[in-house]
Amino acid sequence: MTTLQQATTALQHYYGYDTFRPMQAEIIQSVYEGKNVIVLMPTGGGKSICYQIPAITMEGTGIVVSPLIALMKDQVEALRANGVKAAYLNSSISMSEQRAIGEKLYKGEYDLLYVSPEKLLSYDFSTSLPHLNINLFAIDEAHCISSWGHDFRPEYTKMKFLKKQFPNIPILACTATADKVTRKDIAKQLDLPKPKVFVASFDRPNLSLDVRPGIKRFEQIVTFLKEHENQSGIIYCLSKKSTESVAAKLKKNGFDAAYYHAGMPANERSQVQEDFIQDRLSIVCATIAFGMGIDKSNVRWVVHYNMPRNIESFYQEIGRAGRDGADADTLLFYSYADVQKWQNIISDNESSQRDVKLSKLERMQQYSTALFCRRKVLLNYFSENHRENCGNCDICKNPPQYFDGTIPAQKALSAIYRVRESIGMNLLIEVLRGSQRKEIFQLELQKIKTYGQGREYSFQEWRYYLEQLLNQGYIEIAHDDGSKVKLTEASRGVLFNNEPVQLVKMVTAKEREEKAKKKADVRLRRPSVRHRVRDEVFDHLRQVRAEIARAEGMPPYIVFSDATLEEMAAMKPTTEQAMRAVSGVGEMKWNKYGKQFMRAIESYCIENNIDLTPVITTAPQPTKVKVMKPNEPKISTYEQTRLLYEQGLSLKEIATQRGRSFTTIIGHLAKLKKEGKAEIDFRPFLEKGVYEQVLSVLPDLKEPPYRSAEIFMALNEEISFEQIRIALTVEEEERLNSDKI
Ligand code: ADP
Ligand code: ZN
Repeated sequence: MTTLQQATTALQHYYGYDTFRPMQAEIIQSVYEGKNVIVLMPTGGGKSICYQIPAITMEGTGIVVSPLIALMKDQVEALRANGVKAAYLNSSISMSEQRAIGEKLYKGEYDLLYVSPEKLLSYDFSTSLPHLNINLFAIDEAHCISSWGHDFRPEYTKMKFLKKQFPNIPILACTATADKVTRKDIAKQLDLPKPKVFVASFDRPNLSLDVRPGIKRFEQIVTFLKEHENQSGIIYCLSKKSTESVAAKLKKNGFDAAYYHAGMPANERSQVQEDFIQDRLSIVCATIAFGMGIDKSNVRWVVHYNMPRNIESFYQEIGRAGRDGADADTLLFYSYADVQKWQNIISDNESSQRDVKLSKLERMQQYSTALFCRRKVLLNYFSENHRENCGNCDICKNPPQYFDGTIPAQKALSAIYRVRESIGMNLLIEVLRGSQRKEIFQLELQKIKTYGQGREYSFQEWRYYLEQLLNQGYIEIAHDDGSKVKLTEASRGVLFNNEPVQLVKMVTAKEREEKAKKKADVRLRRPSVRHRVRDEVFDHLRQVRAEIARAEGMPPYIVFSDATLEEMAAMKPTTEQAMRAVSGVGEMKWNKYGKQFMRAIESYCIENNIDLTPVITTAPQPTKVKVMKPNEPKISTYEQTRLLYEQGLSLKEIATQRGRSFTTIIGHLAKLKKEGKAEIDFRPFLEKGVYEQVLSVLPDLKEPPYRSAEIFMALNEEISFEQIRIALTVEEEERLNSDKI
């Protein structure tokens, strides 16, 4: 049987990555064991590797069913660039090409074959399957299989035949968006007996979340774009017309923008997409159709001009930013008019699953109006309970006023408990307020103890507080069971252990409007924090990448991702060993581009008098704040790190909470310490013996500052970069101290 060791070797050889991300190894192991699995990971989480590596390492060919034609091309291109034998079959391929691919397929020459669902189900293809040596079936975008999902495709439901016909070939169903109901349905629709379900965290800490009132949207966008110069991004609009008008206005204002929607001729559409992919065009104003079929990993921001219809779509759309793991910003404009627009569209035109759709819309609205950390709201929607605030959303950065809401929460939860989770939210409020409605007496709800115990709040107030409880994960709405309000694991603590609940006081519409207006004004004038350091070396490497991409007719991010270029710009590798240690530099990429990038780094740095030693930390530069309200204290990124450190969080926890890399956090703390702003001892963070080991190899290296990558190599790759970085920080302090003496 194939082993995980082989999987790791393939990961390093083909992709140039050192380690698997959480869950990838377990998923791959399960496939090796012949199990059927359902994989739930956010966009950019790393699903593809979960089926690509088994398909590459096991005997035979892996068949990947994907509904998105453009994405297939992209994935196959990326695989080939890494030296993997892959091809795709769909309606865009000519008959003669299809035949040629078919022949190679029969001879077992491919590790991976991507097909559209239509192709899979076609007579010719499905009857040829038994004659092939297939090692796995991967169903990408598997939520399309469920009518509960938001992208239901009827043809997907015919894929049950796979398990029936090939009971021993493992099936992997992958999706980025599936609530509990959809998850159950995927297994049912594919007829997977006892699938192993892997749910990775849906958290994407590198995406900042920001919701702003939909007032003066265009002005707000202009400010936002000025802070994201030369970065690729998408503005999603609800209508074709608005994509055109926003793009036209942007162009008039000197921005490099185009529009994209389903009503355009196909050739214009693909031109826009192509220009965007190739980094020839920075801004695309689009309807949701755009972005589905592209894997571009260096989208640095996403703006929603209008609110999407559900959280799945929203999360998928913002998920198109920052797939390379580097920081990216997202901004959503909210106005109640958008909610009404969606309500009308759904109620007037969409008869199937109308209630489900409306209640999903409602959850989207709740996210937009949330008063708690927005990331918690999103993650709760995907059934993840996170206790910590994220620190990377507008609410965390600018918090509202809370009060002790334990008693109202207990009243509501107790009422839900006493009615045995059998009613929806509106009726629940009627019970709490002791209403005289006929329905209540019919159901005999007036007899429960909590009836009329919540008269102190108006209907609207209850609605507001219940939405907060929902957003905080204390209650759930059962979409598959008449939208009844249900208790959750978290509600127990409140009901039985007096766990405190924080709620936000309701403000009147007028107060809110005034506040929102003020806020919009302030925001218009406030430059946002730019997280990334994009130095000139990075910009130069970007140009080198663009030239190669042009020459080879390939998207730049397939040559190397932004994240890989950033690491190169920071580490400045000038030896083969160091270059190969950069994440994303695999065998094929090293052979094709390694030396060229090494030379580019070296000559650029020498010509421009730049120190060739690596920048160990990638700490953000402090933002230049020009306009600032005196009563709005600005906490620098260093200061935020310091505060968390003083609260006693570990370095890892600080990194997670701040959505920054471990290295960045060490960099922050080292700088604060150097400037005498914080008392920090790094030694306790070192594992036993690491410091001594690191010291022992230093005499063999060049002068300080030392390169972590070299030390990593010198120590047989046995000590993590994180530990090496701490050790180097301690070493530097010691050295500087002894210099002083
Ligand atoms: P998804 O299909 O879940 O949206 P991808 O499979 O496209 O995500 O992966 C997103 C990005 O993360 C890609 O650039 C991919 O190469 C990278 N990636 C995936 N797994 C790893 C890993 N183990 N180490 C480093 N990068 C990884
Ligand atoms: Zn937050």
